[in-house]
Amino acid sequence: MHEVPLLINITLALIVAFLGGVLARRIGLPTIVGYLLAGIAIGPFTPGFVGDLDTIQQLAELGVIFLMFGVGLHFSFQDLWNVRDIAIPGALIQTAFATLLGFGLSQYWGWTPLAGLVIGLAISVASTVVLLRGLMDNSLLNTSHGQAAVGWLVMEDILSVLILILMPTFASNSGSFDWANLATTLLKSAAFIAIMFIGGTRLLPWLLEKIAHTRSRELFILAILAITLGTAMSASELFGISLALGAFVAGAIISQSHLSHQVGADLFSFRETFSVLFFVSVGMLVNPAFLWENIGHVISLSALVVLGKTIIVILMGFFFPRPARTFLVIAVGLSQVGEFSFILGQSGLSLNLLETDQYSLVLAAALISITVNPFMYKLLPWMETQLRRIPGFWKKLDANTHILEIKKDELVNHAVIVGYGRVGKHMVDVLETLSVPMLVIEADAERIASLNERGVPTLYGDASNSEVMTHANLDRARVLVVTVPDETSAQLIVTAAKDINPELPIIARATSEEGIDRLTQLGAQDVIHPELEGGLEIVRHALLKLDFPVSEIIRYMDAVRHDRYNTQINTQEEHRLLHDLIHASSGIEVTWLSLDANNSLVGRSIQDANLRALTGASVVAIMRKGQLIANPKSYVIFEAEDRVGFIGDQEQIEAAEQFLAKSTSDEAGVEWET
Ligand code: AMP
Repeated sequence: MHEVPLLINITLALIVAFLGGVLARRIGLPTIVGYLLAGIAIGPFTPGFVGDLDTIQQLAELGVIFLMFGVGLHFSFQDLWNVRDIAIPGALIQTAFATLLGFGLSQYWGWTPLAGLVIGLAISVASTVVLLRGLMDNSLLNTSHGQAAVGWLVMEDILSVLILILMPTFASNSGSFDWANLATTLLKSAAFIAIMFIGGTRLLPWLLEKIAHTRSRELFILAILAITLGTAMSASELFGISLALGAFVAGAIISQSHLSHQVGADLFSFRETFSVLFFVSVGMLVNPAFLWENIGHVISLSALVVLGKTIIVILMGFFFPRPARTFLVIAVGLSQVGEFSFILGQSGLSLNLLETDQYSLVLAAALISITVNPFMYKLLPWMETQLRRIPGFWKKLDANTHILEIKKDELVNHAVIVGYGRVGKHMVDVLETLSVPMLVIEADAERIASLNERGVPTLYGDASNSEVMTHANLDRARVLVVTVPDETSAQLIVTAAKDINPELPIIARATSEEGIDRLTQLGAQDVIHPELEGGLEIVRHALLKLDFPVSEIIRYMDAVRHDRYNTQINTQEEHRLLHDLIHASSGIEVTWLSLDANNSLVGRSIQDANLRALTGASVVAIMRKGQLIANPKSYVIFEAEDRVGFIGDQEQIEAAEQFLAKSTSDEAGVEWET
């Protein structure tokens, strides 16, 4: 049997990565940690099977191309533009400081200045994959804080691309800086980008459009692969610039086509597969023995990434007119390094600026910072509490939260709405139509501007900052509606509002079932869980289409709401009603009635009760202790807790209702449930 080394290598790399990924997920870590560990396991520095680094690295190049194409595809000038005030200067300053710190540390270790520069740059750029995952897992992506972090990262993406362009110019100089080489590189890159943006933006979307019209999925996928790989290769072969930059530009161009979502979806499996191989190949370069011998280096570089970058961002909060919390979220979100650092590091390796052992250190810092990142999010509330304990510091950090002066006398009997997003918008629309006075508190400057255009009174700031809440005239308000999706913020807002005005009715949005309890305990009268409400609406529509009777559906939904919003109560009622619903689906509407011990019908037979003669309605079923007695005989005797199913027209059912109400003792033994 002849050997197929390529096949063996791919198979083993993917199997071990799969096992590593599953293991990482099980212990609550990002899967990328598992892939890197898988790489270490099949790497040359650990016992057992040793993968062929060259083969896997060549495949990993495809991973880099697809990863960078994906970054280009999702690259959005709009995201950056929306938060330009903070993201552009913020990312520039943070990258500069982080690079300096990395450089300083490497000089202390006695590295060459160029190696120091590469390591500094490599630790200054965070991973897009890890940031987006973290923001999503913590429901922060759609908040103003999350959006600022995304914009900041987009700026870092641009910087990384610039660094990739410039890196070869560092390498070629021997002693003095080679300006000619720098100029040539910049010119070549500019020429490539110009050709792509002028010619490519016309040609590529047009080509994709034509192929899409052939209705051949296969050809469409082939076209995307040809464009991606073709652009990356021509960037490298014709212009002498990196494959990564070529792929990024191809992605950015395709992102302007209306087919870009389909392109992203079709490339997804390729990107995932090859980027896994990329992470495995990165892991294979790690020498655990070297890291262990240099554990001090590993710890200090990781601390620099996790703590150093966090501190730099938090301190920047002093200089920007944004809530302190925005900086805390950005600090935590970007306190890691990932694929960009690997790509920069590899570029440094191939240009002989960095040695493999030094690269191992970047990988170790990436591995540790990505592993620690989910816990950093958990520490956010703790960090905020600690910082608030130093009042002078917090006030300075949060002092720039811009509070617009509102004419206080005008704010009487008003509704205060926190958040003008997908949920709060409905409130504002309705109250505006009904001319109910209101004040909207919102942390997003763009949204504040659009509210001001509508003439709605606003307060710009982070409502979870109790200082902001003191400006809302809550002691004269009629109701507070908290629509923010972040549960910690909602809890802080409710607590602050209760402090100011304990009598104020509060309606709050919850994101989880625990959140419902917590917000209720803190004093919110009505807590709404939008996902639960959305889910119930979907159930209602589906059951109507399946011809279940309206009244039963409504009863079922009421029971679910009752149980879910009141988590102390068990869900037996919910199950019982669902059971009723199943038995009520025969096309005839059955109205169910409960008898308790006080009802005078208890102990009498159906015949004895003579219900059909007296009311016109017929008893068609009895539900007893979870068992259904369908079409009961006339001698069946009613028992306490029976649920009796009637059919009849509306008049007959109403007559039955009245009859049974009369036969109920003082405490009301019969209760209609329609
Ligand atoms: P949505 O999830 O679409 O309903 O959007 C929530 C809205 O609430 C967004 O417009 C956010 O900017 C806003 N928001 C979130 N947290 C706060 C906060 N702590 N203070 C003020 N506004 C907030």
